[in-house]
Amino acid sequence: MRTIDSLGDLDGKTVLVRSDFNVPLKDGVITDDGRIRAALPTIRRLLDAGAAVLISAHLGRPGGKVNPDFSLAPVATRLSELLGQPVVLADDVTGDSAKAVAADLKPGQVALLENVRFDARETSKVDTERQELAAEYAALADAYVSDGFGVVHRKQASVYDIAELLPSAAGELVFKEIDSLSKATDNPARPYVVILGGSKVSDKLGVIANLLSKADALLIGGGMAYTFLKAQGFEVGKSLLEEDQVETVKGYMETAKKNGVELVLPVDAVVAPEFAADAPATVVPASEIPEDQMGLDIGPASGELFAEYIMNAKTIAWNGPMGVFEFEAFANGTKAVAAALEATEAFTVVGGGDSAAAVRILGFDESKFSHISTGGGASLELLEGKTLPGIAILED
Ligand code: ADP
Ligand code: MG
Repeated sequence: MRTIDSLGDLDGKTVLVRSDFNVPLKDGVITDDGRIRAALPTIRRLLDAGAAVLISAHLGRPGGKVNPDFSLAPVATRLSELLGQPVVLADDVTGDSAKAVAADLKPGQVALLENVRFDARETSKVDTERQELAAEYAALADAYVSDGFGVVHRKQASVYDIAELLPSAAGELVFKEIDSLSKATDNPARPYVVILGGSKVSDKLGVIANLLSKADALLIGGGMAYTFLKAQGFEVGKSLLEEDQVETVKGYMETAKKNGVELVLPVDAVVAPEFAADAPATVVPASEIPEDQMGLDIGPASGELFAEYIMNAKTIAWNGPMGVFEFEAFANGTKAVAAALEATEAFTVVGGGDSAAAVRILGFDESKFSHISTGGGASLELLEGKTLPGIAILED
């Protein structure tokens, strides 16, 4: 993968950086600026090299139309605060305002172009439409740096097509993400343990299938665990169940056995009569979930069991919360896993938007994890063993 070094002398050049500024907003206020912070090393490095930095980014899903609710204005303000220098925001994506902003931009200065998803060509399935938008971007800069890790699994104009038109390289964030995640996916130090959770099995079928030939142990928690328990012949009451995946899951259990991969399911569950923060919680064996209750977390014995696997591993990848961690009564399973990951000296990576958020919200020390990915879908596709278009285009 080409890095910024490969772009040569950037003094006096304008560099277009694709960042992921898809931050959570509440009433126009950024509630978590993690993605903006993650973009700073590349921006600072380019400024230090004497470049003018022009940034394209997306926010939310405006659906290819201009929508002020998805303006990058709050991001420009926050980015300016974090950098300690002004950040101009163009009024449009690649139009007259973008052109004027790019033309005025001096070395050492930073400007942001409006939300790339205001332009339907960004995500078009028609190659020529994407290429047209990419050409408009390319006309604004001398080089391109891909640093929006959250979108590198997408074949989009500002991620993929642009890299064919300008000298291009991976930014610091994309480099760090690929470097860290590939340590887990390519040649992991063993034992290699993967913990999967989250709401649905069907979201993570590809990952499970791939890991059945890679991991030494696969620990299953979260909502997806109930489809596995059902496949083992247990009743799961009102728990999240994907009936149509039970057969697939049975197949996974056989493959695991054949490949000598340990498939570890929860041995107990925290159940409640309804999906609510204040629902009365009880711990039951995983084989005895009452008919009128739903499993909303793995139980304490499962938490200990999973922690033991983590403490005995050399590489651990985690994707998906163990329970409904948003409700305090059902956050303990996720806490048990996060605490073990925090404690171990082994190589630990966390992927998945909600899992990364859980680490922060539940108050764990992010610096004790080897890597917390900024990209949910992209990190999942790497775990699946897929080639990401936005990365492939940066290879020589
Ligand atoms: P990630 O973003 O880390 O990949 P997912 O999006 O797959 O994770 O799943 C996260 C969601 O799964 C959380 O909002 C959590 O509340 C939910 N979840 C976890 N366990 C359960 C459960 N037992 N029942 C219902 N939802 C669950
Ligand atoms: Mg999620």
